[in-house]
Amino acid sequence: MTPMISLEDALRIALETVPAPEPADVPLVEAIGLALSRDVLADRDVPAVTDSAVDGVAVRSEEARPGATFAIVETIDAGRLPRREVGPGQASEIMTGAALPEGADAVIPVEETEKLDDGRVRLLAGAEAGRFLRLRGSYQRAGEPVLAAGREIRAAETAVLAAVGAFRVPAFARPVVAVGATGDELVPVEVPPEPGQIRNANGVTLMTRTRQAGAIPWSLGIVADEREAVRAAVREGLDRDVLVLSGGVSMGRKDLVVDALRDEGVEILFHRVAVKPGKPVVFGRRGRTLVLGLPGNPVSVAVTFELFVRPVIRKLTGHARLHRTVVPAVLGTPVPEGSERRTFLPASVRPGPDGFIASLVPYQGSGDPIGMARGDALLVVPEGAAARSTGDRAEVLLLDGALEAIA
Ligand code: AMP
Ligand code: MG
Repeated sequence: MTPMISLEDALRIALETVPAPEPADVPLVEAIGLALSRDVLADRDVPAVTDSAVDGVAVRSEEARPGATFAIVETIDAGRLPRREVGPGQASEIMTGAALPEGADAVIPVEETEKLDDGRVRLLAGAEAGRFLRLRGSYQRAGEPVLAAGREIRAAETAVLAAVGAFRVPAFARPVVAVGATGDELVPVEVPPEPGQIRNANGVTLMTRTRQAGAIPWSLGIVADEREAVRAAVREGLDRDVLVLSGGVSMGRKDLVVDALRDEGVEILFHRVAVKPGKPVVFGRRGRTLVLGLPGNPVSVAVTFELFVRPVIRKLTGHARLHRTVVPAVLGTPVPEGSERRTFLPASVRPGPDGFIASLVPYQGSGDPIGMARGDALLVVPEGAAARSTGDRAEVLLLDGALEAIA
């Protein structure tokens, strides 16, 4: 067995082993959450012509005084080009986004105008040249980058990509992550467990966490605690980009995963990391495929997925930010002293006068997924830390929903 190593060393080894992400063109609406593999350039000026920022009246600014009246020569709807020049004493009705007509150099918003019975329009306010105009190319210029390589594609970026016509987005291929749960005690979630059996919760959470991390889960189902069964699952998983197994990596008689991995030619790069829960986590590779074996307790699965699997998936998808955000917080509950391993305890965060307040949630230990689900963060207890009281400071790793919880 390889010696127990620190979390930092383990992460360094794991992330160094991740192969370069594979650029791929991804349909725009499916690109959410991925990173850009190259700069995206504006294909044209936006606005393509100088247009109006409001619904209003296009005028010659030198004539625009309160009380001045104008003959309307046309109405320009968005998407239509003006057909008439605005001459002296004239104005055109113009809608937001419609092109400014020749002759006009300002727009008076409709709220600052009055329609007269004879069809003319009277201004209630004046205007300087350029008022309420969006100048051609003022948002972006053709050929200039609008989004840089590495940028994460959120909903806001999809709007930019759509505006420049990037219906296929230069991103990275989503890796396929084979997910299997080892254990003779496991039954599928839809099957009522007999005495001694448990439902395969890990298989489900590994699939959902994989999808949330931006990869495509591939289920290997339940894997019996038999060497041949584990080897067969490993063989199938090694055809994917990443193989993640739960259970079977500890010291028990039926903990067969590490031997099965070796039998199938996987090079083990670490086994045992100084974290709690999750110490027996194993990491290896064969060819381009990365392999992670997570200890089977549900909270160990959650913590080791967040600490190891998610950063690996994010690196494989070209992200710059790999890790969950860790923030300082004030303790809302006491925290026990640390051990020789870095400890992660389910916690909840809320806003306080002095930043985040982090409180431990009721939690029975690494076999307690209900306790884990009460929290939206993990309180980080450093190796050898002294016990702390309410009001002391600590660091918390924010999980999904933490920012919503503090809003
Ligand atoms: P192991 O790491 O295989 O020794 O598993 C440790 C414990 O985690 C087992 O005794 C089960 O209680 C639990 N466990 C293992 N696999 C699963 C699973 N797929 N779903 C839920 N709990 C599991
Ligand atoms: Mg087991």
